[in-house]
Amino acid sequence: MQIEFTPTSRWLIRPSISMIPAGDGIFDFFQSSTRRSMRFRLRSEIANVVRSLDGSRCLEEVCQAHGATVTQISRFMEVLHERCAVEPKVVRDAIDATEHYRVLNFLGDYFPAAELFAAFERLRSTRVAILGCGAVGSWTAVQLAHSGLENFIVIDGDHVEESNLNRSIFLHEDIGAPKVEAIASSLHRISQGVRVRMVKENVCDADRLRALLSEARPDVIVNCADEPSVDITSAWINEYCQHQGIPYVIAGGYNLHLSLIGMTVTPGESACFNCSRITLDELEDESLQGVRRLWRPKRNLGSLSPLTGITSSLAASEVLRLAVRSDRLRPAMWNRRGEFNFLTNELSFVNLPPRSECGCTAESIRSRVPKYSQ
Ligand SMILES: [Zn+2]
Repeated sequence: MQIEFTPTSRWLIRPSISMIPAGDGIFDFFQSSTRRSMRFRLRSEIANVVRSLDGSRCLEEVCQAHGATVTQISRFMEVLHERCAVEPKVVRDAIDATEHYRVLNFLGDYFPAAELFAAFERLRSTRVAILGCGAVGSWTAVQLAHSGLENFIVIDGDHVEESNLNRSIFLHEDIGAPKVEAIASSLHRISQGVRVRMVKENVCDADRLRALLSEARPDVIVNCADEPSVDITSAWINEYCQHQGIPYVIAGGYNLHLSLIGMTVTPGESACFNCSRITLDELEDESLQGVRRLWRPKRNLGSLSPLTGITSSLAASEVLRLAVRSDRLRPAMWNRRGEFNFLTNELSFVNLPPRSECGCTAESIRSRVPKYSQ
């Protein structure tokens, strides 16, 4: 969208911005949603013009009312626009007319008005594949649909059981239905524009997953599959994604009192799953110091819905950051993973840097990955 500071254009200060006088001609432009602040020393007529920007009058009228000219103010307006402090009335009206205006207002704290709708369109059209549609997978899908995503590929061969109800989106009436059908039904109720490709299958090896993903062609993959294990499915996804240059999120696990927040991988840009294994094996060797682990299959551990919510919320946030494809909003879980402690509400992180032994950030891979654009 072309943004111009013409005399007849109407502008307003964005809803999340407060303009606070700090004395001596200095004004603090405080973005309450992100707590970012920027300070400018302004001549009084310029400050009065900016303070009066509510979209009701054109720039020329506002400038005349305060003894300023459009030429005087336009450079400063460009700066305020670039920093998401002001927006044109036409953009405000367009935002207010959409069903996703809350999401657009949120993204508008990161994307200037000129880029906002393009960023949202990238998000909306992103094809996200969710492998494993249990508790975390189902909540992640629902949150992404609420945020405006419309293209889903859901992969799971299981049916809803009563034991799933304590932590997933499924209801009593879904018991017996394939999980992918129950999810599709929920997503369609959130937005009529949603398209869901259902794959009723429990993927059991890397070849089958590669075949499915090659056909479905997702832009982003979320791993929520814990069968045979999260490590095994993550290794399959890693192999496919590194080769294809597709970013993915490991959604993590929630059935422990320390809930795991998985890493986000963008091939060529960040550490991959193999890199994380190398680092974690080293850390484990140090911390275990000869302790023998007992292998106990089918432990049937406890699980709690709020922990599922935390894990899936953070996974969905990462998908949104990947989906907007911009340096203005980059993934927060590159090169690290986290742990949420239910007892203390603390979130802690382990750094998982790219490892040269893995070779995944080599130039040959980097060149295949579409660069982030603004
Ligand atoms: Zn790697």
